[in-house]
Amino acid sequence: PGVVRAGKPRPTRVYMSDLESALHYSLRVELAAHTSISGKALTSLRQFISILAKYFPGRPAVTGTLKAVDVWLQEQKETVTYSDFRATLDSTTNGSVLPEVVRWVGCQGSRKWFRGYPCALWTLFHVLTVQAKATGSTDPLEVLQAMRRYVGSFFGCRECAIHFERMAKESLVSVTTPSAAVLWLWSRHNRVNNRLAGAPSEDPYFPKVQWPSPELCRSCYKLTLGGEHDWRKEEVLAFLQGMGHFGAVLPTTSVRP
Ligand code: FAD
Repeated sequence: PGVVRAGKPRPTRVYMSDLESALHYSLRVELAAHTSISGKALTSLRQFISILAKYFPGRPAVTGTLKAVDVWLQEQKETVTYSDFRATLDSTTNGSVLPEVVRWVGCQGSRKWFRGYPCALWTLFHVLTVQAKATGSTDPLEVLQAMRRYVGSFFGCRECAIHFERMAKESLVSVTTPSAAVLWLWSRHNRVNNRLAGAPSEDPYFPKVQWPSPELCRSCYKLTLGGEHDWRKEEVLAFLQGMGHFGAVLPTTSVRP
């Protein structure tokens, strides 16, 4: 992807800085709340790291680290302490490769309590569903099940985890292809947007809308006989995986927040 000039982040782009910041926050802050990890939570962690090792579209140093952590985790027995996990994450020959602080770009809120990590976590999982499809994953549920487990075991917003689990339980079985996985996450994210529109957590500068809006993707919409708007799902899929969005991640340094 081409490098863009510093300035306002583009709403049609994904920024590596958001993805790496999501990794930093998840692996060094969210997981750190668990001194030791075993049972279902350990399975969740293994699956999360496994999909990151396979599909995170990052710098070679970052993907190398994720792969090393993946191998280490597969070798562990029933319990992993967070301190051992953290030591493995940060023990590459060049020291730690993930950034030590968050730096939101596309996920920067107008106030420090808006957007940030939850925005970047959605973005990360959308990117991973698109990457899994692009690289020919044979298991359409691999990324979504890992997301479901990660959110269920670790996501700090417990109310979000309950809502997400309800949606997964209801309809994840209907996902039988990698394209359907990309679209399932898109449509469930829109349900969440719909539910949260107008809520106090909404950043007034980033209103919760059905996404992508007609301004971002006119061809994603069709007019029904009753004059209502409906989706053209093939166009939505193309938008999600194409140069317009999750298929093309811009480098960290391309935009100043
Ligand atoms: P977000 O909704 O976080 O979206 C991030 C970016 O993704 C957007 O900027 C846009 O570029 C893109 N995007 C938006 N919609 C879509 C879509 N449909 N498909 C693909 N890309 C899209 N908060 C609550 O208060 N209650 C909840 O129950 C809740 N559940 C959550 C469940 C999960 C799994 C996650 C990760 C977060 C949840 N949140 C919930 C947080 C909430 O959804 C938002 O992440 C948060 O309010 C920040 O919103 P945002 O404006 O940055 O956009």
